[in-house]
Amino acid sequence: MRRNAISDFAKKAREFLGEEGVLQEEVDLLVYEQDGTLALRGKADVVVFPRTVQEMAKVVELAYNYGIPIIGRGSGTSLSGGGVPVTGGVIVSTARMNKILEIDLENEVAVVQAGVINDWINAYLARMGYQYAIDLGFQYMADPGSQRVSTIGGNIAHNSGGVKCFKYGVTVNQLRGLTIVLPTGEVRRIGGKEFEQAGYDLIGLITGSEGTLALIAEAIVRIVPTYESSVTILAKFADLPTAGRAVSAVIASGAMPVAMELMDKLAVEAVESGPYAAGLPKDAEAVLLIQVEGSLPGAKEEASKVAEVLRRSGASGVEIVEDPPKAAKIWAARKQAFGAMGFVGPNYVVEDGTIPRKKLAEALMLARAAGAKRGLRVANVFHAGDGNLHPLILYDERKPGEREKAIEAGEEILEACVELGGTITGEHGVGYMKKKLLPKMYRREEIELMKAIKAVFDPKGLMNPGKIFP
Ligand SMILES: Cc1cc2nc3c(=O)[nH]c(=O)nc-3n(C[C@H](O)[C@H](O)[C@H](O)COP(=O)(O)OP(=O)(O)OC[C@H]3O[C@@H](n4cnc5c(N)ncnc54)[C@H](O)[C@@H]3O)c2cc1C
Repeated sequence: MRRNAISDFAKKAREFLGEEGVLQEEVDLLVYEQDGTLALRGKADVVVFPRTVQEMAKVVELAYNYGIPIIGRGSGTSLSGGGVPVTGGVIVSTARMNKILEIDLENEVAVVQAGVINDWINAYLARMGYQYAIDLGFQYMADPGSQRVSTIGGNIAHNSGGVKCFKYGVTVNQLRGLTIVLPTGEVRRIGGKEFEQAGYDLIGLITGSEGTLALIAEAIVRIVPTYESSVTILAKFADLPTAGRAVSAVIASGAMPVAMELMDKLAVEAVESGPYAAGLPKDAEAVLLIQVEGSLPGAKEEASKVAEVLRRSGASGVEIVEDPPKAAKIWAARKQAFGAMGFVGPNYVVEDGTIPRKKLAEALMLARAAGAKRGLRVANVFHAGDGNLHPLILYDERKPGEREKAIEAGEEILEACVELGGTITGEHGVGYMKKKLLPKMYRREEIELMKAIKAVFDPKGLMNPGKIFP
C-alpha cells in the first residue's frame, strides 16, 4: 500500500521537479540515511528537490495527500538526528533552494531561500561592509560551527547558536520574517522587514520546531554593519573549577566579550594532534578563549581589562593576541575541535546541554564521571559564556556495547544538566536523540500543550514524525 503511494507520489513529483529533482535509487538514498549524528540511521523512500516556494508547496501537498511522512533537509549536519528519516517517507531537500533573493540595506535585512548556506550570506555581504547578524566575525569565527555547510533553513529549524551567541543571541534573534509551507501545501508569510510585530510570536513558534510543524521556504534575516576590529585573549588554568569561576568573574566585571569558549585538556590534545594545531597549552587542565570587539583602541582596552580579571581569578597564564593571523589560527583550532576528536578516539557522541554558569565546574566533573564509570573518556568543548556544554563522549564502534554506553553516558549528563537548573539542549535541538529526555525538562501538561499546537498545524502527524516527543 505504502509502496504504491510512494511510486505514485514520485511519478507525479517528477512531472514538475524533473528527473533530477526526484531520487529513488537505493544507492542515492544511502546518502540520506544519516546526518551529523553518528549513532543514528534511517531509510527514506524518496528524496525530492524543489527550487521555489511553489514547488515546495506542491510537493508537500502531494505527500500529505498520500499520507507520506515529510522530512525537511538542509545539509544534514544536525547533531540530534533531526533530519534522519526514522519512519521512512519523503525527504524534502532545500539543496536547490539556494538563492539570496534580496539585500535591503535600508531595512538592514537579507531575503534568502531556505537552502542558502549560512556562510554565503557573509561572503556576499562582505563588499558592502555588512554581515549576517549571528555570523559576526571573520570566516573562521562565524556561527554556527558548521556555517560553511549548514543551511539557513536548518539553522532556523534548530534555532542554532554558536560561539558569538553570548553577545548576539541565537538564530531566532536574527529573524524578521518567514515564508513557510504548511503540511497541506498552503503557503504562509509571517513577519516582514519591519521590526515591530503584534500578536502571537509565530516566528518564535516555527523557529526551533525542527520541521515538525511546517517547512521553511524563505527567511528575512537581520544584517548589521561589520565591526572594526577584534582582540583575542587566551588563558590557561591548572584546574576546571578555577576556569569556571574565571568565566563568572569576567561577566561580573561588566565586560561584554563577544565569545567565551572553554576547552579541556583532552579537547586541546585532540586539536593539537592534527592540522589545526595552534600552539594551545597542552599542559593546562582548561583553556579559555575570549574575543572582544569594537574600534581597535576600544577592543585593546577591553582585552587588557579582561586579562586582568583572568589573572586575578587564578589563570596560570594569560596572553593577549592582537595579531589577526595568530588569532585566526587559535579560533580555527576551536572550530575544528569536533573533527579533531578522530585523533583521540574513533567515534564520539556529542551532547549539548546548558547549565547555569556558576555550575560549570560541577557539570564538567559530572560529565567526566559519567564517562569514566563506563570506561569512556569525555572531552569538553563549550560555549562557556552562555553555559552551553558540548561533552564529546569517545567510544569505539568496533567494541560491542560501547556505542550504547556512550549514548547512556550522554543521557546521564543531560539529566544532570536539568538537575543543575539547565536544559537538555542549548542549540542542537531535541531531534530523535533527546526526545526520551523531554519529560525530564517539562511537566506532562506542558508537553501536552506542545502536542496540541502540533495537532493544529499537522493533524495527520506527518511532519518529521518520531522527533521531539517521546
Ligand atoms: C562540525 C559541526 C559543528 C556544529 N556547530 C554548531 C554550532 O556551533 N551551533 C549549532 O547550533 N549547531 C552546530 N552544529 C549542528 C548543525 O550544524 C546545526 O543544527 C545546523 O543548523 C543544521 O543545519 P542543516 O542545514 O545541516 O540542517 P539539517 O541537519 O539538514 O536539518 C536539521 C533539522 O532541521 C529540519 N529542517 C532542515 N531544513 C528545513 C526546512 N527548510 N524546513 C523545516 N525543517 C527543516 C530537519 O528536518 C532537521 O530536523 C554543528 C554540526 C557539526 C557537524
